[in-house]
Amino acid sequence: MAAMAACLVMCVSRGISQDAEIPRLRLEGVSEPGDGSRPVAQLLLEAPSGVPYRLESGSLRDDWRPRITFAGTGSNRVQLLEPAEVANPAGEFFRAVVVEDPLAVTGDHFATTDGDVVVHPVNHASFVLRWRDRMIYNDPVGGAARYSRLPRADLILVSHDHGDHFDTATLNAVRQEGTRIIAPAAVFSRMSAALRALTLPLANGAETNAFGIRIEAVPAYNANHPRGAGNGYVLTVGERRIYMSGDTGSTPEMRALADIDLAFLCMNVPFTMTIPDAVAAVRAFRPGIVYPYHFRNQGGGLADLAAFQRGVADLPEIEVRRRTWY
Ligand code: ZN
Ligand code: ZN
Repeated sequence: MAAMAACLVMCVSRGISQDAEIPRLRLEGVSEPGDGSRPVAQLLLEAPSGVPYRLESGSLRDDWRPRITFAGTGSNRVQLLEPAEVANPAGEFFRAVVVEDPLAVTGDHFATTDGDVVVHPVNHASFVLRWRDRMIYNDPVGGAARYSRLPRADLILVSHDHGDHFDTATLNAVRQEGTRIIAPAAVFSRMSAALRALTLPLANGAETNAFGIRIEAVPAYNANHPRGAGNGYVLTVGERRIYMSGDTGSTPEMRALADIDLAFLCMNVPFTMTIPDAVAAVRAFRPGIVYPYHFRNQGGGLADLAAFQRGVADLPEIEVRRRTWY
């Protein structure tokens, strides 16, 4: 904690460091969750609304690393886990930079060897990833309005044909000229001719490439999801491997996954994994970062993500990111 106390926070507007009153970035403190999981730094950014900001961290040796892009709302509180505390005992510095890109997608930054991936949860199983100038949509549903402020899709992954994953109207709202859709055959067969023209059916175990991204379809199944009808996906982007589970149980195929850097894991009852299932799976395949998603149970309550976090808290190499999905 001594290292964090030495933190410097600063704001940069249009590339120039300034001590102006606005925007202001302040480290409010570091909280120890007390359950063995990692400390969380809380920063407060006071800045004009309507402008996106990017929070970066580094050691002041021109090694700024983007962490989160977010929309200024006047007063933003940002929480982040501090893995750098272990890696950088000299302390970590933070700055906030005005983002000039009007199409900036907000979310956590995840570094690859070829640019950052920004992770933007939408709702339940739906999220988008922005990589360079490409937009990757995962299971977009819920209608056009949810996506109206996001750039349209270059690549869309559909996991299976349940209504919380596959919706024709939403696909039509987010597609554009040149969009490529990947889906299992059971989804392809339910698509309109217009959507089929954009879609490559991919079976469990098959793979393809799109926009420089390798896409592998992996099994996703349990008692509620017949084997072969649905896909999980493993994307390779800039040499990093990103897994989205789809709706599945804790299968031997999932537990045998290797070298997953970022994992989106379903955990809700009675449809997908229980919390103990999800803990056991993560302990087996050891992804670097886990985003619990698809965690609303039947009946509307949310799965106990704190219990999930406690279940893997003794594995410091695994970072659990709890974000707003509902
Ligand atoms: Zn399902
Ligand atoms: Zn589902």
